[in-house]
Amino acid sequence: MSQEEISFIPHTPSVLKQLFTQRGITPNKRFGQNFLTDQNTLVCIPDIADLRKDDVVLEIGTGTGGLTRLLAARSSHVFTIEVDKKLFELSSDILKLYNNVTLVHADILKTKHELNPHITSLILNWLREYDQTRIKVVANLPYHISTPLIINLLEDTLPIDLMVLMLQKEITDRMLAIPGTREYGILSVITRLYSEVEVVKTLPPEVFWPRPEVHSAIVRIVVRKEKYAGSITDYQLFKNIVHAIFTSRRKTLMNSLERLNFPKISRERLKGVIKDMQLDERVRGEVLSVDQLLSLSETIGRVDHQSVN
Ligand code: SAH
Repeated sequence: MSQEEISFIPHTPSVLKQLFTQRGITPNKRFGQNFLTDQNTLVCIPDIADLRKDDVVLEIGTGTGGLTRLLAARSSHVFTIEVDKKLFELSSDILKLYNNVTLVHADILKTKHELNPHITSLILNWLREYDQTRIKVVANLPYHISTPLIINLLEDTLPIDLMVLMLQKEITDRMLAIPGTREYGILSVITRLYSEVEVVKTLPPEVFWPRPEVHSAIVRIVVRKEKYAGSITDYQLFKNIVHAIFTSRRKTLMNSLERLNFPKISRERLKGVIKDMQLDERVRGEVLSVDQLLSLSETIGRVDHQSVN
């Protein structure tokens, strides 16, 4: 296949199948490989992200580069990350003619709790060099890592102001869940802390090859990293409380807090903190709103500080 041909190859299931057979590639479930092949869906994504010529974009999961080409045509630069070597090589060929694409062969996550620092510094250095200050994340995410990935993208210092993501429908339900429901959890809390989410479209498995077993949705996430910046004194304490609550959902708030073992805060004092918040002693932590969780962690931080051994 000539460079011209491979650069403009249509991303239909039959063409991708043929290309994969030629190169001895099979879609790998372990990497969440479901390629977006529906043209209408592909072309609407840059519009939802409201891409402009001076935008810098981060895409996670290059795959076969079908979305990357559209992003590159509409923005000033695209950083696109692919973990699978064979797909990295294939998309390098497909994207060769695009001189505003940086394709990186790497895992976007260093651990479940941290983005790959090589990628974040690559982007931050580039932004500094080209005098840019913001990026947009636009991606059809690998579904198996989307929860830790979204949390890390929101918590990291990367200056993201918008994310347009294709996600498993269930994940968008969890992002938007209200306190006390089964879907309400760490993802809902972190999402609400840093952003505003809107589901733009829900999509059936047929828009992908191979078809996933689940329904999908495109979400538009307006990110405001500074939203709560001033109101959290000790972010680690806040996270510890949220984790304690949601990793043992059936426990009362009191039990979850006790398990955190604040050496300077007695059981009676903890009871007092809960009572002062106008909450019942037997309440479960999972019914607390983000504002209540914030005020709880501020109070505990203060009490812990004031207490003398
Ligand atoms: N954006 C493409 C591919 C989506 S499939 C499209 O829309 O068609 C998800 C892609 O993410 C796969 O190519 C998979 O190999 C890649 N991927 C999975 N885990 C990853 C990780 N940890 N870091 C970077 N890429 C990853």
